[in-house]
Amino acid sequence: MSIKEYFASIFSGLWSLLQGMAVTGKELFTPKVTEKYPENRATLQIPERFRATLRFVYDEQGHHKCIVCGSCERNCPNGTISITSHMETLAETLPNGKPKTKKKLDKYLYDLGSCTFCDLCVTSCPTGAIEFSNDFEQAVFTRAKLVKQLNDRPEPEEVAKPAAKPAAEEPKPVAEAEKPNNEPKETA
Ligand code: SF4
Ligand code: SF4
Repeated sequence: MSIKEYFASIFSGLWSLLQGMAVTGKELFTPKVTEKYPENRATLQIPERFRATLRFVYDEQGHHKCIVCGSCERNCPNGTISITSHMETLAETLPNGKPKTKKKLDKYLYDLGSCTFCDLCVTSCPTGAIEFSNDFEQAVFTRAKLVKQLNDRPEPEEVAKPAAKPAAEEPKPVAEAEKPNNEPKETA
């Protein structure tokens, strides 16, 4: 290396250092943008389309729109959704006289811990029964708590049912000791 090249490399290094320090120095005087979370929770703006967790859509009467078709469960790429249901016989009958039946949802389980937020479940749902909320505060202490039952409200018709009366108490058999002793007493 010649002396000229030697000094050129020193000046090049110094120039590079000054450029870096100029960037750092500029940041010293720009306004801070750090979010003071959680102190600013009340004013925090979370984008509406942010996907935080899946939830059921309920109407004003408390009905959800899930018809238990299983489309969301089938389309989920990693088994995050698990649905259990049973068949219920209705009071109405079909033209052939047979009673109508309907699939009834038992449990709609969603594992937030394995969800990739791809939205395939929501887009494949034919009734718009599920949606993502933007409630981002979902931290829990155990993975088990990330498994949520989405149909967590009682069915409105179940709420409207009158409470079953407790069965009337059957008269207890009179204890032998309490029975009146009508037998004649032996005399000496
Ligand atoms: S967002 Fe994707 S990964 Fe999450 S439950 Fe829906 S389909 Fe499954
Ligand atoms: S949430 Fe939608 S796609 Fe999933 S079972 Fe219910 S109706 Fe079908």
